[in-house]
Amino acid sequence: MLIRKTFHFTVIFTLISLMCMSLISTAFAASNGDNGKKYLPSKVINALEQKSKGIQTSESDQILGNVLAPSSMNIETPNINMDKVVITTPLSAFKYNFKKDLRQHGYTENEIENFSFGDYKKAESSWKLKKEQIIVAKKLYPKLKNVDISSWTNADFNNYFSKMNKASLAKRFKQEQLQQLKQKGINFEDVIYLFKEFHTVDAVLSQPDAKLKETIKDYYQFKLDQVELLATNPDQSKYTQLDMPRYGVDWFLNDVVTSDYWLQVQSDRTLVSLRALYKIGLSSFNGYITNMYGTYSLSQGGAHEGIDFAYGGIGTSIYAIFDGTDVLTGGYYHQLSVYDDDVNKTYNFLHMSEVDAPGEPVTHGDYVGKQGDEGNATGAHVHFEVHSGETTGLSGEHDDVLGSISPYQLQIYLGEL
Ligand SMILES: [Zn+2]
Repeated sequence: MLIRKTFHFTVIFTLISLMCMSLISTAFAASNGDNGKKYLPSKVINALEQKSKGIQTSESDQILGNVLAPSSMNIETPNINMDKVVITTPLSAFKYNFKKDLRQHGYTENEIENFSFGDYKKAESSWKLKKEQIIVAKKLYPKLKNVDISSWTNADFNNYFSKMNKASLAKRFKQEQLQQLKQKGINFEDVIYLFKEFHTVDAVLSQPDAKLKETIKDYYQFKLDQVELLATNPDQSKYTQLDMPRYGVDWFLNDVVTSDYWLQVQSDRTLVSLRALYKIGLSSFNGYITNMYGTYSLSQGGAHEGIDFAYGGIGTSIYAIFDGTDVLTGGYYHQLSVYDDDVNKTYNFLHMSEVDAPGEPVTHGDYVGKQGDEGNATGAHVHFEVHSGETTGLSGEHDDVLGSISPYQLQIYLGEL
């Protein structure tokens, strides 16, 4: 469970930027420091303080109108528009070597020393796409195949995939279902949180309003806690918000922002495995990744240890996306564990409504069981988690440390680059 905190405006809104910058002429120190407040223009601080005292003026309303996004279902906890937040996490908090990129773009060691993640993203947005980024972009979006994107900057591509993410999310709803969301007072931006918990449109819409409200509220609280953490103690910040192609905006544990290959590749590989898992072709593709590895998971109360796949409902057949030497017994009744001695890893499938017989070898494409919503699950989906060695043990819950290994490293099963 999340630890609920009393909400203090002055502490939480310590990292808000861009729009405010246009409002306020005060220069804005964007990177590291020990007091989060110094990142905020004084007019915003004053407006927040006034609001916390219950004083409202038209000027403070105007300022806060630019930093507060509308929240769903009349939830009183203010939402934060993360587009306007400067992420001050120091680059050293990530495993990925961001400094190498900065050196390649001509930044001096002195400049790099003071770079935050937010500074990096800002610098990166003006860089042109690298050759390998162009290859991956065209793989992710076949529509771009014959488009010349050699002049695109990272900002151009980020805008493109944000637009595509939104469109693909909307495509999951029929017109009347979108109407139902609206009637419930749910902003479309918050739907990603609901999918993380309920996985399918039907499951989302069949929840009682109170449950939906509680879910959104808990994610708002997590978001606020993270912003507060970023503001008051950047070194301890564990999650950073990223926009992932074909998935959307989410919070990722800094530890997973590690790979020396482009982040986007991960989601492309994941989609290859998604199709194989349900044996669905490209043309009839309407399966989804409802949660990724290393994101913040409400139901796990910490880092999400696997990938969540969802396609169809309870009872949908699942197929092996690997060759395994043995199906293991043990673990949970809804757990299917397959050991692969070639790579000395165990693949786990959870929440299954039916699992394959133990002791049998499996090969790629074999039927292994049926999708369900058993155990710690609120909707039909498959949780796929990978561990080293031969084990049916799963990762501990309720922490921000990943005990499983990254499924994206399994290039053989998750598709070629
Ligand atoms: Zn999961």
